[in-house]
Amino acid sequence: MSIVTPPDRYLPFALPDIGEAEIAEVVDTLRSGWITTGPKARRFERDFGEFLASGDLHAIAVNSATAGLHLALEALQIGPGDEVIVPVHTFTATAEVVNYLGADPVFVDVDPVTLTIRPEAVEAAITPRTRAILPVHYAGLACAMDPLVRIAAKHGLQIVEDAAHALPATSCGGRLIGTLDTAATVFSFYATKTVATGEGGMIVTRSAKIAERARLMRIHGISRDVFDRYSGKADHGGWYYEVVAPGFKYNLPDLAAAIGLHQLARAHAMQQRRAAIAAAYHEAFSCLPVELPAPAPAGELHAWHLYVIRLGRGSRIQRDELILALREAGIGTSVHYVPLHFHPYWRERYGLRPGDFPASTDAYRCMISLPIYSKMADADVERVIGSMRALLG
Ligand SMILES: *Cc1c(COP(=O)(O)O)cnc(C)c1O
Repeated sequence: MSIVTPPDRYLPFALPDIGEAEIAEVVDTLRSGWITTGPKARRFERDFGEFLASGDLHAIAVNSATAGLHLALEALQIGPGDEVIVPVHTFTATAEVVNYLGADPVFVDVDPVTLTIRPEAVEAAITPRTRAILPVHYAGLACAMDPLVRIAAKHGLQIVEDAAHALPATSCGGRLIGTLDTAATVFSFYATKTVATGEGGMIVTRSAKIAERARLMRIHGISRDVFDRYSGKADHGGWYYEVVAPGFKYNLPDLAAAIGLHQLARAHAMQQRRAAIAAAYHEAFSCLPVELPAPAPAGELHAWHLYVIRLGRGSRIQRDELILALREAGIGTSVHYVPLHFHPYWRERYGLRPGDFPASTDAYRCMISLPIYSKMADADVERVIGSMRALLG
């Protein structure tokens, strides 16, 4: 589209915010001789607990949020015949971990405004087989946690929060996600997430039982981890270990934890930058024919992992055209998500139809995610705003 100034530089949809401290810590790790799970992963877990400022939390570092969700559900002994309620408007990882354990995800629609799981739909989906609810704090906006916690308590269900977008975000009167009254919360440090280590994740739980099981299963079901064995803390001079369960290989290497230490220290500063970008977008787009993302309730923190707008019915450009036009203008965008009921596997295995999930279906057809990350300069933000105005105004 010629109305948009040609780009002198491509603005990617997402970029990690890696500083000199992260680089120096990785180099230090490489020089240390200990590159897999060890002292830095331990420190990262300790720092993570302190970040959430809740003394009674266990933090268990893993190599992805997918691994963390799998371990959390495994620790809750979810298995064949069980059902776990998940929002249909999410990444496939949220649902696939339920299948890993031979259990079935039960998909429910999201709220048309917040695009987070609808508590009423959750309650309507409960059956005698339901064991857990797996809410997603979509885009960095916390779900309606008070009603979900109440529904779970009333029906004897567990909650495992998919907090892949929610570091840091708050709910229930300013409480950080990760400190609520749920069985476990799982964060992601995937390359595009708000705190990024390339690949990585963290399970947070108040339950010593869940923590112990997750620690065991993250490393082959070996009752004592390799760092303990080789750092001389164990008996037998370090060589002896026992396998007590068929575990997984889900440990976070120190090379990734080294990055995480410094990312975590800047998590609030990076959130503030994203919040400032969101505010600039809000102001600039409020006169365009678009639906803006729902803000966090007063007093709550939105992590602003994603900035998702929806084109109005009166828009003179369709979503797919807008994506191509922005790409021509040198601006990367994305769509979050192709809902699970549109993917062949989930659609066919569970007989899902678009009409079953009207809010997700409608939102998907007109949504676009714009760049929002702390590395964006003011000029980058202005460029996105200028292109959007030119294409939609
Ligand atoms: C990124 C993401 C995951 C998976 O995170 P990984 O660390 O890549 O395994 C899970 N759920 C949601 C909603 C995500 O966005």
